[in-house]
Amino acid sequence: MKRYYLGLNVNGPSISECLFGRGSKGDLRELNELLARKYRGTPILCKNGRSALTLALKAYLNGGDKIIVNGFTCYAVYEAVVGAGMTPIFADINEKDLNFDIKTLEKLVATPTGRGAKGIIVQNTLGNAVDMEKIEKFARDHNLILIEDLAHSAGAKYYDGREVGTVGAATVLSFGKDKAINTITGGVVILRAPQKNEIEAPFKTSKISETLRARLYPLFCGICRGLNHVHLGGIMMRFFLATHLVEKSADSRLDIRRKPPKFIAKIAIQQIKSFHHRGQPAIREFCLVKNRVEVLSKLRKAGYFFDALWYEKPVSPERYYKELKFPEKQCPVAVEVASKIINLPKYYKSKDLNVAMSIIKPYLVEDGDEQ
Ligand SMILES: *Cc1c(COP(=O)(O)O)cnc(C)c1O
Repeated sequence: MKRYYLGLNVNGPSISECLFGRGSKGDLRELNELLARKYRGTPILCKNGRSALTLALKAYLNGGDKIIVNGFTCYAVYEAVVGAGMTPIFADINEKDLNFDIKTLEKLVATPTGRGAKGIIVQNTLGNAVDMEKIEKFARDHNLILIEDLAHSAGAKYYDGREVGTVGAATVLSFGKDKAINTITGGVVILRAPQKNEIEAPFKTSKISETLRARLYPLFCGICRGLNHVHLGGIMMRFFLATHLVEKSADSRLDIRRKPPKFIAKIAIQQIKSFHHRGQPAIREFCLVKNRVEVLSKLRKAGYFFDALWYEKPVSPERYYKELKFPEKQCPVAVEVASKIINLPKYYKSKDLNVAMSIIKPYLVEDGDEQ
């Protein structure tokens, strides 16, 4: 059995692409043209996905506005909304696709909490599309600015056949580690509807320390993966994290003035073109289990490191959860799912997952089990 360590760039860009990639003006122009054509708008490259999301919000909405977000999400989304001076309103999810649905939304906007919301961010959690036809109509009926966040779902399709990222006023992509497009770092907002407010595009070049960290990441991961065979990968990764040679994705800071490193352009072009041809499946498969601590421990013993969960709290990671005072009563399903979810990244081959599945199976929460 191969030993994996989640977050170790198993399907990300190669060591040499990151170490030696140059990123010429031509590459940047080509990436901009590709994004403009594909998503039919004006792209602005950013330091990361959350900064791109903040710019999208600022372009169409105003400080103090309430923004509806998925009640099961990444801290990056919360940070982006608050960073734009706006208030996130969490909508509960359903257990089928981990997205909010029209019923929850209608209820939410009828309560004092959700009443008067001005924007809505669609997330397509783990690559599972929302029912966009209904959500689009809901947004129109309630005068909401619709923003599509494709961090999990770039390349996927809605049920009506439209590609994700072609519907809302703006589309946001993260190019971060393990995202649907993974160039280690970076993000982009594509403005489609006419802007309501002027925004300043990022003008500062990427910090040298951040560029270096991104360039070296696949190398460090390669070292840890190698050491995994003698059970030392985890120790080495803890060393890299402690010395800040590697940064956890969630810890990347919001900065709407910084551009991404240029070398990512070529890698992004390749990835966007490749899913353009084959379509993009869900990036993670999920299931709900009883006694997750025990399951994860058994999996670890068998060589699977599935500990980096999307998501272990309704807004993850856990270390940021307490500070944001999540409205648990408003989102009971998200709380429940977050306590039971395990997700398997799609880059494991299915035969490599056989042992994992047999470990998980006895713990699966079946439909009809008591909630
Ligand atoms: C990761 C993520 C983002 C953006 O992340 P960055 O780390 O800022 O690139 C946005 N939305 C969701 C749902 C995410 O998971």
